[in-house]
Amino acid sequence: MSSIIRTPEEITARVKALESMLIDKGLITTQMVDRMVEIYENEVGPQLGAKVIAKAWSDPDFKARLLEDTTEACKELGISGLQGEDMVALEDTDDVHHAVVCTLCSCYPWPVLGLPPNWYKEPQYRSRMVREPRKVLAEEFGYVVPESTEIRVWDSSSEMRYWVLPQRPTGTEGWSEEQLAELVTRDSMIGVGAVKAAS
Ligand code: FE
Repeated sequence: MSSIIRTPEEITARVKALESMLIDKGLITTQMVDRMVEIYENEVGPQLGAKVIAKAWSDPDFKARLLEDTTEACKELGISGLQGEDMVALEDTDDVHHAVVCTLCSCYPWPVLGLPPNWYKEPQYRSRMVREPRKVLAEEFGYVVPESTEIRVWDSSSEMRYWVLPQRPTGTEGWSEEQLAELVTRDSMIGVGAVKAAS
């Protein structure tokens, strides 16, 4: 079989064909498929990643474990699953800002971020982010990283799925984890946006 790049329509048709075949053979049911889609559309999402980030901001021991073995630390909070077997959280500092891309396709840590946004899958983002991250962040996302801060771009793959531990906003001393989690945006965990400011 040739490995040409397929259009979204072709991919959809192939997925449909596979789904029908598996249902015909009694290996899965329509209900199982619907349930999986529902889980990843409504239940698993960036609010779970935000919970992890808020805990890391509040608990230095947890943060150390998160940076040491992200997948295991997430399990402590009951967060795990498909496409999250080998997650790596990268810590932002004043000197280094991390940003994530998948140059090959759209690898993404589903258990903490949910399904990837459409722009993450676009060829423009995937190629340009590697070449000129500072410009892409400023022009496409309105996110200006200070010149004094180095930007490191990480290429996610099926073996290693990266996401970002952003810096805790100032003025949040004494905040609860629930309050802190409200400040964590999806984009801040991909490295293309800021966390919300404390107000
Ligand atoms: Fe990929």
